[in-house]
Amino acid sequence: MSRVWNFSAGPAALPEEVLRQAADEMLDWQGSGMGVMEMSHRGKEFTAIAAQAEADLRELLAVPANYRILFMQGGAIAENAIIPMNLMGGRRVADYVVTGAWSQKSQKEARKYAEVNIVATSEASGFATVPPMTDWRLSADPAYVFTCTNETIGGVEYPFEPDLTQIGCGEVPVVADMSSHILSRAIDVAKYGLIFGGAQKNIGPAGLTIVIVREDLLGRAMPHCPSAFDYKTVADNGSMYNTPPTYAIYIAGLVFQWLKREGGLAAVEAHNIAKAKLLYDFLDASDFYENRIDPACRSRMNVPFFLKDESLNEAFLAESRAAGLVQLKGHKSVGGMRASIYNAMPIAGVQALVDFMRDFAARRG
Ligand code: PMP
Repeated sequence: MSRVWNFSAGPAALPEEVLRQAADEMLDWQGSGMGVMEMSHRGKEFTAIAAQAEADLRELLAVPANYRILFMQGGAIAENAIIPMNLMGGRRVADYVVTGAWSQKSQKEARKYAEVNIVATSEASGFATVPPMTDWRLSADPAYVFTCTNETIGGVEYPFEPDLTQIGCGEVPVVADMSSHILSRAIDVAKYGLIFGGAQKNIGPAGLTIVIVREDLLGRAMPHCPSAFDYKTVADNGSMYNTPPTYAIYIAGLVFQWLKREGGLAAVEAHNIAKAKLLYDFLDASDFYENRIDPACRSRMNVPFFLKDESLNEAFLAESRAAGLVQLKGHKSVGGMRASIYNAMPIAGVQALVDFMRDFAARRG
């Protein structure tokens, strides 16, 4: 067997230890005589798996007791509708910070359910930065302020946690799409009303959506909100109102245990800083490649870069693939290349990429 260095933006590489454990347990989970995919979600085996996964996630992110963790389906794009359906609570306006393709899509979807006010946008910079909070113009009484704290396509990450107390609006809940950097760094959950993300980048398989929501925001859903997407219904039923994505929850649970063995989020964050520094320092020192994002807002997880001579793109992709480095093609809306280096990518993988890029530049430069 030979594994490649996989730089996919998602679904993305998983820790090899986790895949090996899942393989070992495929036919017989811990002496139960069945695999996890075959278990009733209400049986004692699976309820133990789900409870452990939730407890480990709560511990890793230090989620306060007044927040509920929900395991849902639908992905982050469905949450773009589910969030206003649950949080408008009779208010008229929802506020959005637009920093790239994903928050743009979120505000567009919200317009079906709310009047949307754009609090700030970095569009004028080509979405290369994050507008500082001093430039945010909240509406008079917004139901919430929506942020996407890591823009997967643009490669832009908030260099600060959105803390509305700093601009005198601490009572407004902050919603954050953390799909592509959740668990990559320590965060202060108490700064947010709701955190959500699809699992398929930094957590586990596609099909699982994580929602972490402050309890006082439950019970406000619009009457036509589907029951399976009403946060209160999901919370009251321990994420088992409908059948949850059981296998994805199991794999996510193995990833949470792996993160704990790695030393928790402080250790994981230090590792991610070192990985990102290795790649960005190389890009900055090169006259063959470039990254075009404001250095203060560069994502540690998604690193878009360009060859200055774009006629070499196809050769770069073909040769990198032959060298065992895959999924480096940039998103079609941006072009160029993108290396996604989530938690499961070891520094050896980033080093292999830098070594290849240096060699390619020497040969073609
Ligand atoms: N938000 C962000 C930040 C993402 O990276 C993605 C997936 N690339 C989405 C939303 C959409 O996720 P899904 O396709 O799982 O709905």
